[in-house]
Amino acid sequence: MLTLNDTVSLQDAIKSYQYANSLTEYSRRKTITVNIGGVPMGSDYPIRVQSMTTVDTMNTEGSVEQVMRMVESGCEYVRITAPSVKEAQNLENIRKELRVRGYTVPLVADIHFTPNAAELAARIVEKVRINPGNYADKKRFELIEYTEDEYQRELERIREKFIPLIKICKEYGTAMRIGTNHGSLSDRIMSRYGDSPLGMVESALEFLRICEEFNYHEVVLSMKSSNPVVMVEAYRLLVNRLDAEGLKPYPLHLGVTEAGEGEDGRIKSAVGIGTLLEDGLGDTVRVSLTEDPEFEAPVARALIDRYTHRSQQSKPIQAVSGSPINPFQYSRRKTQEVYNLGGSNVPRVIADFSQINIDKYEDLRSIGHYYLPVPDKWKMNDLGVDFIYTAQQPVPFMLPMGLKEIVDYEVWLTLKDQDNKFPLLTWAQWQNKTTVSSKLNFVALNATQLDDIQGLIAENVVVLLRTDNAHAMPALRRFMFELTAKGVDCPVVIHRTYDTAQADELSLFAATDCGGLLVDGFGDGIMLSAQLEASLNTENKLQIAAQQNSIGFGILQAARTRMSKTEYISCPSCGRTLFDLQETTAMIRKRTDHLKGVKIGIMGCIVNGPGEMADADYGYVGIGKDKISLYRGQQVVKKSVTADKAVDELIALIKEDDKWFEPEEIEAF
Ligand code: SF4
Repeated sequence: MLTLNDTVSLQDAIKSYQYANSLTEYSRRKTITVNIGGVPMGSDYPIRVQSMTTVDTMNTEGSVEQVMRMVESGCEYVRITAPSVKEAQNLENIRKELRVRGYTVPLVADIHFTPNAAELAARIVEKVRINPGNYADKKRFELIEYTEDEYQRELERIREKFIPLIKICKEYGTAMRIGTNHGSLSDRIMSRYGDSPLGMVESALEFLRICEEFNYHEVVLSMKSSNPVVMVEAYRLLVNRLDAEGLKPYPLHLGVTEAGEGEDGRIKSAVGIGTLLEDGLGDTVRVSLTEDPEFEAPVARALIDRYTHRSQQSKPIQAVSGSPINPFQYSRRKTQEVYNLGGSNVPRVIADFSQINIDKYEDLRSIGHYYLPVPDKWKMNDLGVDFIYTAQQPVPFMLPMGLKEIVDYEVWLTLKDQDNKFPLLTWAQWQNKTTVSSKLNFVALNATQLDDIQGLIAENVVVLLRTDNAHAMPALRRFMFELTAKGVDCPVVIHRTYDTAQADELSLFAATDCGGLLVDGFGDGIMLSAQLEASLNTENKLQIAAQQNSIGFGILQAARTRMSKTEYISCPSCGRTLFDLQETTAMIRKRTDHLKGVKIGIMGCIVNGPGEMADADYGYVGIGKDKISLYRGQQVVKKSVTADKAVDELIALIKEDDKWFEPEEIEAF
């Protein structure tokens, strides 16, 4: 264990890891304004919401109807795919028809591989999005060694292909997004920078430098990944590199790609997007869900709206001039192991039952623990909580082995079984303690108690850290910075309380607040609490406990700190999609959702699919009508499988790799 002699001051620990105006005070990053069809984007304007159509771009009527629904749901820009010149041309019909119907929403053409489609679209719509990984580069998933000369020649070739688009954009007043995707970095970039945030940033900067050379500044940048941790690191690094190179502060488009659907998709999006918004980064948000696009804008809006009054609502946080940890590369804070927390243990989940009275075994089903009368045993599912906090009312029966209980200190002092139940102490109780647990004591602290940190140097203490500051994540992070700088290595459980029990809001807010800490390697556990109305009955309260539990595990999974479920990396679908993504995802999920930790990519097309599912273990990719290719990692292993056999073939593949097991039926009362 570290001692006070090992400590360094916080200012000494801070390196030049700058990426935000402030890490303690809400302050939006200052950007230039980019004009997009009369709806300007940048820090002088509100953070914008956008989404993308899923209808075939050649279906004019269907596209128009969908764009109208998207605008009604809150979209301020609408992106439409233009895979070839004919779709790019049809954007004109879609745009005209929308104008006839009174919809002036700026349209964005989404381009991959086809500079000629981009050049046409740039004459028609308000903005084009290009992917620097495939605008002029081909991706063959080959590891090619480039000499410096070859690398420069390739760059020159890209330049020649890209300059015409810049000239057209300048002439027509069209904006551009240079949108890097983690999964589709070119072979050239991969050869030099690997599959890294730095490679993502450099991929965009190569194109941006050419834009600046031509004095073209109507540019928005994005750094998307399906892995929120990589995505956060890449955006931060981008800002740092822009400043370091003296490039203009271009607006940022935030998004987590292939986030999936439902609660998991929302949590993954919030971990990535919310973390950046907390630090004032981001000028437009697109949430990518495998759901109809009308469902995306309200999620983006809910994420953005938290910052409208953030400055006025926040309490001051003691300032720091930078980050004492490397914000561009994940590293978990080193902590000592206390019981089963910290050290190399996965982050733990604590269920807050302080407002719920437990009197029967069945009550624990809501938090993943099931009693089986025959053979008189407890079973736990993948979301089986690690601890239950019962405050003043200990559980009146013996708990399963995998579940431990936390009670308030004064109650713990009266218990006979002090071995399987652990105390939660206030700071005053910790200071004046006489008897404590030899194994594990939780001490509740507020993130403002920076001066009390040295009192936490002990072998059996875990902090339960809370804040009542509206600028919650930075307040909690500030405490973590201080612990890091002072070398105090006790584990910390993040405790957040929300005055909403609404699952949608709770998942977005908790994923932002806790996810923002986890992506920086902070946090050895999560406890989520909601202020429950007194009128709720026990059944309602147990439902809320189940939601909180699922959200807690979901956040840990999204931050890649504890995998407890199958990970689905499913694309949101677009005009290129070759099958019904929502239906197919549901079908695959139904058969595979017990495969804890296995990552399955479900992609609508071959053009982007294989690249976008960068870190999936298996891929299910549409390659033609009723034709699916199956991937193991980045390798195609089965080609042109008909859709009716593809899920069985996918399962056969997982079985070949010994990663399959049959789902367990739990029949509990
Ligand atoms: S992977 Fe999905 S969202 Fe991306 S281009 Fe293909 S079909 Fe469209």
